[in-house]
Parts: sequence; C-alpha cells; structure tokens
Amino acid sequence: MADSPQPAANIGVVGLAVMGSNLARNLASREGNTVAVYNRSYAKTETLITEHPEAGFVAASTIDEFAASLQKPRTAIIMVQAGRGTDAVIDQLVEAFEPGDIIVDGGNALFTDTIRREKAVRETGINFVGAGISGGEEGALNGPSIMPGGSAEAWETLGPILKSIAAVAEGEPCVTHVGTDGAGHFVKMIHNGIEYADMQLIAEAYDLIRRGTGKSPAEIAEIFAEWNRGELESYLIEITAEVLRQVDAETGAPLVDVILDQAGAKGTGAWTVQSALDLGVPVSGIAEAVFARSLSSKPAQRAAASDLPGPSASWTVDDADAFVEDVRKALYASKIVAYSQGFDEIVAGAEQYGWDIKKGEIAKIWRGGCIIRAQFLNRITEAYDENPGLVALLTAPYFRDALTETQEAWRRIVVASAQSGIPAPAFSSSLSYYDGLRADRLPAALVQGQRDFFGAHTYKRIDKDGTFHTLWSGDRTEISAVDAH
Ligand code: NAP
Repeated sequence: MADSPQPAANIGVVGLAVMGSNLARNLASREGNTVAVYNRSYAKTETLITEHPEAGFVAASTIDEFAASLQKPRTAIIMVQAGRGTDAVIDQLVEAFEPGDIIVDGGNALFTDTIRREKAVRETGINFVGAGISGGEEGALNGPSIMPGGSAEAWETLGPILKSIAAVAEGEPCVTHVGTDGAGHFVKMIHNGIEYADMQLIAEAYDLIRRGTGKSPAEIAEIFAEWNRGELESYLIEITAEVLRQVDAETGAPLVDVILDQAGAKGTGAWTVQSALDLGVPVSGIAEAVFARSLSSKPAQRAAASDLPGPSASWTVDDADAFVEDVRKALYASKIVAYSQGFDEIVAGAEQYGWDIKKGEIAKIWRGGCIIRAQFLNRITEAYDENPGLVALLTAPYFRDALTETQEAWRRIVVASAQSGIPAPAFSSSLSYYDGLRADRLPAALVQGQRDFFGAHTYKRIDKDGTFHTLWSGDRTEISAVDAH
C-alpha cells in the first residue's frame, strides 16, 4: 500500500471498536468516499473488512501504511478509548502525517484536553479537530449529531464529509462548526449534562406516578407514549415507554422491577457540573441528576438509612388523571430549566474560552441523531433567532408562556413529593432555581452581612455607590471599605 502511486482513500478511521467501525461503515456508504481503516490490534480490522466487503475499506496494518493510503491533505477520525488511548494515537499520527493534514478526535474527550491537544498539534502544522459525536453506536452508523471544534480552515475540508454522514433533521444536517479548539467537545459535554437532567426528570415523573397512583409500568408506558405525541415529544420519552413495556423473560415481571436500582455514569455529567462550578453557572438541575445517580449507588448508606422515619401524615392521590397531568407539566417546566441552565453554561464557556458559539445552531444540530433529540429544540432555536442576546432562555416569550401554564402544577408536584416522601430532587431544585431567578430580593443580602461579620469581606448598598464594612467588633458603625484598608 505504501508504494501505491495514487492513494485510494479520501478519509480514514483509527479505532475500530463499536463506534469507530460503525462510523467507518457510515462514511463508506456515502457517495464518493473511500475509507481507510486502522486499529491497534489487527483482529478488529480483519473482522470489519470480512463482515463488510461491500464497504470497500482500505485496510492498513500499520499507522504508516494507513497514512500512505490517504489522499492529501490526509483526514483521519480517531475513535479510540478517551484519555491515554487518544494521546497515543495522536502521537503516532503526528509522526506519520504532514503539515496541512487533519486529525479529528471523535471520542468523548474532556474539552480542556482538546484545547491542550489542539495547541500541541497546531505547532506541527497539522490541524487538530475535537469533534463531539452523539447518538451512540446507532447514531455512528446511521447518522449522529456532530459537534466539531478546531480551525475554520480544517472545517472547510471536513465540513462536507461530516455533513454527508450526520443525521438529518427537517432537511438539515445535524452538524455545524461550533467554534475553535475545544468548543466542540465543550458543547458535547453540555449535551450530556442536559441528557443526565432529562433522564432524571423522566425517572422522577415515573416514580411519582407509580407510587402516587399505583399504576403498573405497562400502564405508565402508555402515558409516556401519549406524552410523546405532545410538547414533550423526544427520543428519551419514546425509549422510556419501550423500557417500561419490557417484560423480563425469566421472571415474567416488568424488566424495570428486576434491574438493580443503582445508576452508573461515565463521567460526562460530572464534567458538566465541575466546569459549571469553575464558571460560576448554577446548573442545579444537571447537578441534582448527577448526584441522584451517586446516591442510588451507595447501597451501604441506603441500607443504613432505610429505617429512618418518613412522613407521618397519610398522603393519597385523589384524582389520578389530574395528578398525571400535573406531573407532565412539572416535567415540562423542569426540562425548560435544565436546557436553560445548559445554555447558560455554553454562554459562560464561550465567553471564558473565546468561542463564537451560535446558540440557535446548537439547538438545531441536537434535533436529530443524538440522545436529547426533541421537538422542543426548535423552540430554542427560534428563541435565539428572535433575540441572540437573550440572557436566560426561560425568559423567551415561548418558554415564559409555557412556565406560566405549568408552574402551579409544578408546585403541587413538589409539595406532593415532600408530603409523600417520594424523592424528586431534580423537580424541586429546578423549581427553587426558577423561584430564585424571579425573586425581587434574595437572602444573599444576609449572606453578605455574615461574610462581612466574620471576614470583613465588605458589601455594597442598594442606596449608594461604594463598598462598605461594618465595624462588627468595634462600635458597629459603618465605614467606607476604602477607609478600612
Ligand atoms: P472504546 O471501548 O472506548 O475503545 C476501544 C478502542 O480504543 C479499540 O479500538 C482499542 O484498540 C482502542 N485503543 C485503546 N487504547 C489504545 C491505545 N493506547 N492505542 C491505540 N488504540 C487504543 O471504543 P468505543 O466504545 O467504540 O468508543 C470510542 C470513542 O467514542 C470513545 O472515546 C468513547 O468515549 C466515544 N463514544 C462512545 C459512545 C458509545 O456509545 N460507545 C458514544 C459516543 C462517543 P484495540 O482494539 O487494539 O484494543
């Protein structure tokens, strides 16, 4: 292959586990593409080319052979284990590639790693693009939502290829150049954070309905299927109905009842919250979703606490249909908060790292191919199209109306959760966030007073400019903070 006068492939994939092999097949199925493939251990390469002769892959057994099989400028997408695996492959490709070539990392990298890698690779003259790819293995094969960062120059070459393999929503490919260096992986991280919140909210809705009305999982599946025909229409609502309908072959019980109730996590939700803490953005709904998974996975603590007292007053649902409708509205309102918080983090990240991220475009490319795909995203795009400087998504006219319509029901559900002892952390934290944002005065004034008392941290006044300190351990008169120093 290395001696071939005219390299055959216009695009390559490194890493042929589930994601890479599906992405390679997706690329090969598009008109005009010839795909070079390489994997560290040749066995996976062999399996792929044997099982899919129709794809016409150009298989390489070494990284040099892989580089030689690619037309210039060479373009390769890495789909290997995030972290050290990605660094190892980048090092090999940098050795084998030349200035002007393009290396794309399609794995789930932490955006700060992508910023670091982009900077290092750029120094060699090679382009490095961190691209978030959502939609799991099915998305990789049939069309994912793709969130590429990197330079505008790399996007010129890469754009048409990525557009050809991305999911299509309402006639538009679910891919856009998100911003430079780590912007793509940052936005993919926020996507995953919102996914955590959405899943937790749906789980809380299920739990409240199940324990509040005594309906079976199969009956609740029908409720979710019905919700999927309205404003909550989304992939996650659709698959929730499927999961709740599933019966365990072995026991005949609903599958959801035989699955251990300890939720796992791969870390992208935690990244979203860690980054939000650094940026000072309150993503309380996403954080509660991450913490709810952590709480579920503490069997010893849960066992020890299981005999702690619950509410002593009895709690019953009088009108099951009305209760279910209240839960639906609480879910919708909380979901608006989760997305609003996620977009706040995108705005803060863009400001911090100097990315020009078009929020409306991000909502658009999430409409297909990814886990949080939903009708609702069109409303977000419209909100940012109408007002690009929108300071909080939930204040846009459409969402303001939706919250006006749902907030009373949302409150009833949070009250029901507290009275019944059925935990609904994401519902209640979202409501507190909503009430916090709309409050005229917050007790933050008292916190400032406390801070000034023990640490002379000073405060500002509502009635005059300047910074002040009260002489708490003296005569308690107020002085200008300038005098205090
Ligand atoms: P994976 O299980 O994360 O990784 C396995 C692949 O990485 C194999 O091809 C393996 O090669 C290769 N690899 C590991 N360490 C390596 C090293 N030091 N040098 C060279 N190759 C190395 O694979 P995956 O599930 O297909 O995911 C690929 C990427 O996509 C990951 O970053 C993942 O986070 C991301 N992602 C996954 C999903 C999903 O649903 N699975 C969704 C979105 C994004 P060998 O065969 O030689 O061991």
